[in-house]
Amino acid sequence: MDTKNLSPMMQQYLAVKNEYPDCLLMFRLGDFYELFFDDAITVSRELELTLTGRACGLKEKAPMCGVPYHSVAPYLKLLADKGYKIAICEQVEDPKLSKGIVKREVVRIVTPGTVDLNSEIDGNDNVFIGSISFALNKYSFTYSDISTGELISTSFDKSDYANLISLISLINPRELIMSKDTEGKLLDYLNNNLISPYINIIDDSYYKISNCKDIILRQFKVNTLIPIGLDGRDEIISSCGSLLLYILETEMQDLTNIKQLEIRNNKDYMILDKSTVRNLELLETIYEGKAKGSLIGVLNKTKTSMGERLLKRYIREPLINKDEIIKRQNSLESLINNNIAKKELNNQLKKIYDFQRLTSKIAKGRANARDLISLKQTISALPEIKKILQPIDSVLIKEIYENLDDFDDLYELIHNSIVEEPPVTIREGNIINEGYSTELDSLKESIKSAKSWILNLENSEKERTGIKTLKVGYNKIFGYYIDVSKSQIDNVPDEYIRKQTLVNNERYVTPELKEKESLVITAEAKINKLEYEIFQEIREKIIPYTIRLQKASKAVAEIDVLLSLSEVAIRNNYIKPIIDDSGIIDIKEGRHPSIEEILGDNIFVPNDTLISLDDKPPYDKSMLIITGPNMSGKSTYMRQTALIVLMAQIGSYVPASYARIGIVDRVFTRIGASDNLSYGQSTFFVEMSELANILRNATRKSLIILDEVGRGTSTFDGLSIAWAVADYLSTNEDAIRTMFATHYHELTLLESQNKKVKNLSVAVSDNGKDVVFLHKIVDGPANKSYGIHVAKIAGVPSKIRISAEKKLKELEKSSLSIGINNNMGQIKFFDEIDDATSNNDKLIDALYDIEIDNITPIDALNKLNELKQMI
Ligand code: ATP
Repeated sequence: MDTKNLSPMMQQYLAVKNEYPDCLLMFRLGDFYELFFDDAITVSRELELTLTGRACGLKEKAPMCGVPYHSVAPYLKLLADKGYKIAICEQVEDPKLSKGIVKREVVRIVTPGTVDLNSEIDGNDNVFIGSISFALNKYSFTYSDISTGELISTSFDKSDYANLISLISLINPRELIMSKDTEGKLLDYLNNNLISPYINIIDDSYYKISNCKDIILRQFKVNTLIPIGLDGRDEIISSCGSLLLYILETEMQDLTNIKQLEIRNNKDYMILDKSTVRNLELLETIYEGKAKGSLIGVLNKTKTSMGERLLKRYIREPLINKDEIIKRQNSLESLINNNIAKKELNNQLKKIYDFQRLTSKIAKGRANARDLISLKQTISALPEIKKILQPIDSVLIKEIYENLDDFDDLYELIHNSIVEEPPVTIREGNIINEGYSTELDSLKESIKSAKSWILNLENSEKERTGIKTLKVGYNKIFGYYIDVSKSQIDNVPDEYIRKQTLVNNERYVTPELKEKESLVITAEAKINKLEYEIFQEIREKIIPYTIRLQKASKAVAEIDVLLSLSEVAIRNNYIKPIIDDSGIIDIKEGRHPSIEEILGDNIFVPNDTLISLDDKPPYDKSMLIITGPNMSGKSTYMRQTALIVLMAQIGSYVPASYARIGIVDRVFTRIGASDNLSYGQSTFFVEMSELANILRNATRKSLIILDEVGRGTSTFDGLSIAWAVADYLSTNEDAIRTMFATHYHELTLLESQNKKVKNLSVAVSDNGKDVVFLHKIVDGPANKSYGIHVAKIAGVPSKIRISAEKKLKELEKSSLSIGINNNMGQIKFFDEIDDATSNNDKLIDALYDIEIDNITPIDALNKLNELKQMI
């Protein structure tokens, strides 16, 4: 492009654009943010905006599209959601005062992980941005929500990358930054685990320890790293420092709302992998992706956005420390037993705004007067909440109480300074209360008489001129005027000066009206400017309260979550589970929390679960093999067990009549069929990857839920894998608590071979004519599959069903049967497996016996032939 002929404004545009080539540039022109050239084409396509053109000094117009400046937030969110970085270029001087072209500068860069304006984000979710680093043979992950000021760091040994990946997928950052080198190490794992945040590769200098240390010391205003717990922890220093540097670069102002670093100890929390969160429908349902019908849908009765965000965190991060779980349980119990406190707290919580985010907005200088009024209303509820909490006898509630402040002085400050119902804008006055600033009051006083003169003018002029229809009005272009209808212009006095002619009216001014108007307008401009300055001063005065406000907002979120869990426990008839380190999971009359809600009046059939690592009966069964018809309730039974365990470890009460939960370090699930075709992974591959993840990472303290293994391949292949997995997971020294639902009835034979294994099935009432699934779990294996019956219920045409029934009979008779309730088939199968196993053992023994140093070449060849024969 020949830039010589470009208009000066376009030259300015291009100069800025050249500085931010990787960003879409939103260029402020008057009341719009405009985009030009390729940016305009991209944005008009992405946001379906009209593409226009603007004369720019070249032969052809520059492609252009734009959005109004006051409603830019939703557009920014849409673009960031699609992974774009957007540079916001503002006018940085008053256009009225500038000579020539107005000065413009980029004041902020919005990226997928750094959106934080009001309508840019959904209040009930965190928007995280994360950085991964690799140092001292460790991975570190730091993540932050810049709209709340949270900053959390953690680290993992190099070999523990699977847990790092699981945590990243749980936190689900919208944007992930890393160096090229780290990307090389992790990208395959990230892709294979379906994590697809926007990954930004940034320069190595961001991760340089000296740069990172500097920024951390500056951010937390400390001289050494000791007080923030980072002394000698270079791995965390690099992920934390790089993230702060990156955010600083996008925010382009001090990160005044990030006041504390939380160092997350992974030993305190259970790490859930992405498939478990999905399979157990912890945060949303699998099919519709909605909260309703998921665990959060049941547990969430929070009143504040902060509470909802914290509840999500509780669900994402169940506890594994017995004392911590019991501490939460006890606080819940004290609330459950205190109806009055619950009711009063509920009333107070309804008055509370999202002051975790309000505090950040104020600290960043982005709050308006309405935000301050919201803050005032919020803090006015805190003393009352403190009063309600004070007598409650619970360690956790005492801690929450201690973190709540009264903020009397802050309340006074806002109450005295800001009017009750201020406008949204902060530059047009009407914000500051009378009596707060003498300078402002005297300015307002000085125009009072001029204003009342103008107010009275209509009446006095009507009387003086005898024109009954005379009006005094105001518009932005002509200022104040006297309006007279054309039929009355003969009565207009001589001193009226004609200003504007309309179809039916004439508009006039008088020298005196002009004089009063100029007095009012000049003073009002001064008043607005002064109000803005005073408002900024007030906002500045609130900044020192940031840490106290952040602590209080966390305390309110905690009480909100506890209250929500207590309400749900009462309403749904949950009980307090016993928590210990026993290795026993003993649940009586357990129910599935969301299915029982969905069923409503159709009664959910409760079931017991007993699964344990102990040796003595009845606690000697660690592997439950569950068989039964399709649709009978096998998945529901296993999921409800896993959910009850997770709920217990969140600190919640559980849907059962009795529960003893020996703490579980992780819950693994392998459920259902899903493929990941966009990453080139078939259904069976996904199944095997999930299985591999479980087998590699499960420990003695884990709980494993397997809902079908090996179904996506040929029957013998699949059955062999399923058998090997069940056998491995139930062998004595390595036994892991496992629930395994299967249609391979052959697996039920394991019970007779291993005393850790127990067969369960789902009861069916079958009188030969009608089949009813009772959803009741009973001891022993199932004796029939009822697959064809389920096909009938699902509406498979009768012709196909009859043909299937015929085929089934043939197969059952035939020796080829691979064992649908056919003991001959089962025994044949296991004989084959046993033969193969013993042959393999012989082969390995023979190889082991070869003494390489003492064998001649000819003997070696003979031995090789012998081994080949064995195969
Ligand atoms: P498949 O083998 O086809 O996967 P399944 O045996 O795992 O089937 P589920 O998916 O657990 O069956 O249950 C099917 C439906 O039966 C559930 O959606 C629920 O509506 C109902 N159901 C399951 N368990 C119970 C129960 N205990 N009480 C009442 N209804 C239940």
